[in-house]
Amino acid sequence: MHAYKHTHKYVLKMAIFDNLPTLFMKLHRKPHTLPFKAARTTTTGINIPNNNNTVTIAQNGVIATAFQKPAILRLNQSRSNWANCRNSSCRRIYTGEHGHWLHSTGRVERAAKSNNTGNRNSNENLSKMSGDATTPSSPKEVYDMAYQSDMSDSAPTTPVQQAPKKYYRAAAHRVFVNRSLHLENIKYYGFDMDYTLAEYNSPQYEQLGFNLVKERLVSMGYPKEILQFEYDPTFPVRGLWFDTLYGNLLKVDAYGNILVCVHGFEFIKHHQVYELYPNKFLKLDESRVYVLNTLFNLPETYLLACLVDFFTNSSEFVRVERGIKAGDFLFTYKSIFQDVRRAVDWVHSDGDLKRRTTQNMAHYVKKDKRLPTVLSRIRESGAKLFMLTNSDYTYTNEIMTYLFEFPHGANPDEPHRDWKTYFDVIVVDARKPLFFDEGTVLRQVDTKTGALKIGTHIGPLQPGQVYSGGSCELFTKFINAKGKDVLYVGDHIFGDILKSKKIRGWRTFLIVPELVRELHVWTDECQLFAELQNLDIKLGDLYRDLDSSAKFKPDISQLRNCIRDVTHKMDMSYGMMGSLFRSGSRQTFFSSQVVRYADVYAATLLNLIYYPFSYMFRAPSMLLPHESTVAHDQAHQPPPPHLPPATTATVRGAISSSEEILATTLAKEAKEAKDGKEGKDLHRASSIVHTRPSTPTVVTHTHDEDYSEEEEAPAGKEQVKKPAAEEKRDTSD
Ligand SMILES: [Mg+2]
Repeated sequence: MHAYKHTHKYVLKMAIFDNLPTLFMKLHRKPHTLPFKAARTTTTGINIPNNNNTVTIAQNGVIATAFQKPAILRLNQSRSNWANCRNSSCRRIYTGEHGHWLHSTGRVERAAKSNNTGNRNSNENLSKMSGDATTPSSPKEVYDMAYQSDMSDSAPTTPVQQAPKKYYRAAAHRVFVNRSLHLENIKYYGFDMDYTLAEYNSPQYEQLGFNLVKERLVSMGYPKEILQFEYDPTFPVRGLWFDTLYGNLLKVDAYGNILVCVHGFEFIKHHQVYELYPNKFLKLDESRVYVLNTLFNLPETYLLACLVDFFTNSSEFVRVERGIKAGDFLFTYKSIFQDVRRAVDWVHSDGDLKRRTTQNMAHYVKKDKRLPTVLSRIRESGAKLFMLTNSDYTYTNEIMTYLFEFPHGANPDEPHRDWKTYFDVIVVDARKPLFFDEGTVLRQVDTKTGALKIGTHIGPLQPGQVYSGGSCELFTKFINAKGKDVLYVGDHIFGDILKSKKIRGWRTFLIVPELVRELHVWTDECQLFAELQNLDIKLGDLYRDLDSSAKFKPDISQLRNCIRDVTHKMDMSYGMMGSLFRSGSRQTFFSSQVVRYADVYAATLLNLIYYPFSYMFRAPSMLLPHESTVAHDQAHQPPPPHLPPATTATVRGAISSSEEILATTLAKEAKEAKDGKEGKDLHRASSIVHTRPSTPTVVTHTHDEDYSEEEEAPAGKEQVKKPAAEEKRDTSD
């Protein structure tokens, strides 16, 4: 099965992507010498420190390090990707990307597509991330290892193998999972329109919005010079905070710690950030901070930077703490922000944005023939569909008509169908997130004129009709759906996802079009992640033999600078403000909201086409630091006893005798129950003081949110009820 076997030699073979050379590392071990020595190949990206104790390999995002016993082998791009070898016998590998344990036995083996025979070229088994829109490719497997341990004599000849989980869909086609979701349990699929059903072409659409807002600002009295600004898509990223007090764009982590601070186009240095923001922290105070949450916010994100830069550097103005000044005229950053906000709202509601978009649909709106197919298949699966959009009927109708404008219907051999026939319920002017709270008046739309019919619609909701406004409470009552029956697909992390999840307990599917680019950088620039990992390892090495008695202080300044440089390079590979999801190894505020509120997420809803509607999305285990850095099979070394031996023995003895008494009691009770003394037991039960709770013998804990009450509560058995609004537990933010 393995290509190599040698008593004093083992070979680790790692094949990475099919477009990269296979990497071999031979590690020679001799008795009574250091456990590892490395013979390096010249393959690009391999980095083996000149250290007999440590071997590190970095290649296309794969980094492997073998230490002295207990040996640790690290793999792949992130901190959570690692493998553990003990006594030169590889036991486990964990890859964060794949989110699973590969092997749990004494050897690492080929993770081949079909079987584990031979040492064939890994290219057969590996596939690249594919942009192919129709044919799901074979799973991308980043590992292909033949490994022979010099301890193999003691290893089982037929080890129990834990098959690695494979991902059969190309990365660009996948739906990523935060919380498990069983599609079979979904009765209603709801869809937002803008940036969900209708994805706008980037950066053309942002460019259009940017230009229109500029023009509006000039008409409001802003200097004509601002018309010279040109939209730069490499600058803004979604999810930034605008601090209206100091006029800064901030990229923050989940807790408000500032990761990047930019004033206009000037990136503020660390010590200056500390001066403005004590502890480099800012509270999310809505009176001061505006979160630029949506893709619609991208043009104004860039425009705010342009305006702050323009006024700050203009010779006609003097910079003051909260804005700029010209003579007696004070222009605060807050007023600039308010003007921009008003201009953006005007452009969206009364301005030319919609008209210009609908006049040139092909330029601004993506059209995909998979859309009618996927919607049709949802209905064929037995579920119902609804559309819930904040856009008005006229605009919605134009966009949706364009999206479904094919000579055929859902299939090439079917006649064309009106877009409305794909949905069971259609709601426009929904005013999310208000819709999920008190909502507005529900009215019916006259689809001939686009006007609202008079009076409040009191139900029921008819297929083929279009409704305006309403509230989620009424809506779910009309369609007779509980929160968990609904999977809502939207792009707005706050208005679509957070609110529907927290207030109504809907299952949520976030659309993140930026994922296409994020995934490309993640894979194309993965050597940077490997470098960062390598630096972390070097940092650990510096402290390796030191404990609290150490007087020597290692110089880590150079390493710290390197870590900063690599982090900067990683950020720049995404864009000037870095990744949507992270800054170096830290995750952004947006990222934390995605993890918390989006059950699943993908670049487009069309990715549903690659999954059956019986599919069970399983969330990968998220390892905490104490789990990701401690191997399952790492020997547990109990701390030295704090109590004197005699006392410890006494305590142990007491515990032991207590356990014996309990065991005896339980055995006696079990025997009595078996002997048909249940009645007597019931009588006794009320008088027994339980010394400890008994361990449940059936599944009583909810591990996922994909359970079905019907499955969990067979007839005649008591049902363990899940809180009705589990997701509503935290309404603090
Ligand atoms: Mg939207």
